[in-house]
Amino acid sequence: MVHFVGAGPGAVDLITVRGKELLEKADVIIYAGSLVNPELLKYAKDGCEIHDSAKLDLEQVVEIVKKAEEEGKMTVRLHTGDPSIYGAIREQMDELDKLGTGYDVTPGVSSFCGAAAALNMEYTLPGVTQSVIITRMEKRTPVPERESVEELSKHGATMVFFLSAGDTEALSRRLTEAGVAKDTPAAIVYKATWDDEKKFITNVENLPKVAAENGINKTALIIVGNSVKQADYEKSKLYSPDFTTGFRKGRNTND
Ligand code: SAH
Repeated sequence: MVHFVGAGPGAVDLITVRGKELLEKADVIIYAGSLVNPELLKYAKDGCEIHDSAKLDLEQVVEIVKKAEEEGKMTVRLHTGDPSIYGAIREQMDELDKLGTGYDVTPGVSSFCGAAAALNMEYTLPGVTQSVIITRMEKRTPVPERESVEELSKHGATMVFFLSAGDTEALSRRLTEAGVAKDTPAAIVYKATWDDEKKFITNVENLPKVAAENGINKTALIIVGNSVKQADYEKSKLYSPDFTTGFRKGRNTND
């Protein structure tokens, strides 16, 4: 059996209780060494076989799992954040299906949630936006044309750019050329929830300058949108004294 586990964004205590328990039981751990906090490996039991997938290709990962299965061992495949976001888990699952190996997924706290926490930010601010777009700028991995920076920025929603901190120059230019105002608030969160986390609030125009000045070109999220300012919003209906919900009767209403 293989358990795909979300390691969380970085801080060791942000793995789920279930994820930690699986790490403690694992006979084999394959972790994404490029981003997973290696401190999490302290939960591995004595004799646990540990592999860093940053040094492996898909075939080699599958080979390790195959051997573990033949020996009746349990494997944890530890992915950064939540495995469903840029985790390349489908291709692994398809290989496991071919082998007839069972698997399941334990979710994790994605870095986009860690970044919001770092900024004390609500992505879905009433009166500003009710949507979060999780995306990336294309590089070696292509992005469908209909999901280009230009297309998605038309929505005015909060945008969270993964895997794009290496070219904030292009990101800034493309957003601006697409009609996003230069002074639209933007944030850079580097290593959210890690001890060396860094965060910067700037705007679309100054993104490349702030990134360059602070030497940021990876392990960061770029968040763009008016919501970054966390101002000029409307209060929620959910907690409005006049609003009746399934749990609470509003004042001054006949609901
Ligand atoms: N599955 C992961 C994302 C993997 S893609 C998740 O849910 O978070 C790798 C990208 O995620 C990095 O290039 C960076 O853009 C982002 N990332 C991962 N961890 C991060 C962190 N702690 N702080 C900021 N960005 C992070």
